[in-house]
Amino acid sequence: MAITDKIYVKNHQQITSQLETSFPKSAFSGATLDILFRGEELAKLDDATQNRILDFAEDFLDCDCEANPHCGCAERKFVRYLLELREQGLGPDALVDVMGDNYMLYAYPGDVLSFLDDSVRTLEAAETLADVDGHPGKAKELRELRENLVR
Ligand SMILES: [Zn+2]
Repeated sequence: MAITDKIYVKNHQQITSQLETSFPKSAFSGATLDILFRGEELAKLDDATQNRILDFAEDFLDCDCEANPHCGCAERKFVRYLLELREQGLGPDALVDVMGDNYMLYAYPGDVLSFLDDSVRTLEAAETLADVDGHPGKAKELRELRENLVR
C-alpha cells in the first residue's frame, strides 16, 4: 500500500457531521476527494477547516488533468511534500505534526517511517542501476537525494 493510502482526515467525525454526509477517512480515497472538493459542500464547514482544505486543494490538486482529482498528481505531489519535509530534517513524528497543522491530515508515525525507509531503499536500488548502466552523473544525483533523506 502506498503511503497516500495511509493518510487520514483529522476531525473526520466532526467534518462528516458538518457536511451531513459520510466519506472514507482516507484523505486520498476518490470519494473523499470528490466530496471535499465540491465547492458547495465546503461552505458548510467552519472557517479553519475550510481553509485547510482549500490549502490542500491549492497545493496538491491544482493540475490541469481531465481526470483531476483522480489523475494521481495529488498523490505524487504529496509524496514529494513528505520527502521535502524529511530533507529539512523532520522525523516521522514531526512530519505527522506538520501535516496536521498544514492540512488537517494525520498518519501513523510508524507508517511514515516505513515510507521513508522504502524511499531510501528505492533510491539505493536506482543508484545501483544507474551505476551498472554507466550513468555516473545520475547515480551521483540519486546518492545525493538519498543522503539528504538519511541525514
Ligand atoms: Zn493531474
